[in-house]
Amino acid sequence: MGKDKEIQPAPGLGASFEKTPRATLQLSTKAQVWGHQSEASWEPTGEKWQAIGGREQVLQQLGSRCAFCGLATQGLQVHSRDDRHLRVDLDNLAAADALCHGWHHLGELAAGDGYLVYLPGLSPQDINHLQRTLLIALSSDDAELREDARALMAWLVTHRDYVMRGWGTYEPAPFAQAIARLNQVEGDPREEVFAGLAVVFHPELMREDTRKWSRELQAHHPLSQWKQVYHAVMHSPA
Ligand SMILES: [Zn+2]
Repeated sequence: MGKDKEIQPAPGLGASFEKTPRATLQLSTKAQVWGHQSEASWEPTGEKWQAIGGREQVLQQLGSRCAFCGLATQGLQVHSRDDRHLRVDLDNLAAADALCHGWHHLGELAAGDGYLVYLPGLSPQDINHLQRTLLIALSSDDAELREDARALMAWLVTHRDYVMRGWGTYEPAPFAQAIARLNQVEGDPREEVFAGLAVVFHPELMREDTRKWSRELQAHHPLSQWKQVYHAVMHSPA
C-alpha cells in the first residue's frame, strides 16, 4: 500500500485535549532562615524586589493563571517555589491563588484555620476547585444554595477523621513541623508520605478572596444557574 493511501489525522485533531502543564501541588511550609529568629527576616526587603523590577511587576510577569490549578483571577499571589522567600529570582517564583498558595504555608495556619483531610480519590487541584466553588456558594444570598454548600463542606471536613486515625492530629502545625524535618532528608519523600492529604480552609480565612472570586465568576456564570447544576449532579441516576 502506497504511502499516499495512509489515512492522515486531520490537523488540529486532539488540540482540545492539550493542557498547559501545571506545577505539582503538595503540602509545604515556609522555609526558616537559620540564625534569624524573627519571621520578618525570612522575607526579602523592598530593595530586593526592586532589583528584579518590583513585586507587583513581577506578579504581572508571572501570568494571569495560578501555576498549580490554572485558575484565572486578579487575586493571584507571589509564591516561592522552593519555599525560600529570600530567593527572589524569576525561576523561583510562581503565581498562585490563595488556596493553592495556602497549601504551601501550613506553618502559618493557626489551630482551626484549616484541617488536613484524606481524600485520595481527588486531585489536589480538583479539591481546590471544589472548595472554591463551595466558598462562593456559602457567601451567596441564596439560602438553599448556602445549605447545599454547607452540607458538602461538612462532608469534606469529615475526611479529617481518617487523618486523625492515621496521624494522631489533623491540625496543620504538626504537619508543618514534619515537613521542615523532611526537608533535611535526602530527596523529597513528601509526595509519597502525604499522598491523598489535602487542606480544607476555614471559610473566614478566605473571605476576602472569596469575595473576589465571587465577583469574577458571577460575570461568567450567574449563581442563579448553579442550583440547577448542583441538583443535576447530585440527583443524577448514574
Ligand atoms: Zn490554584
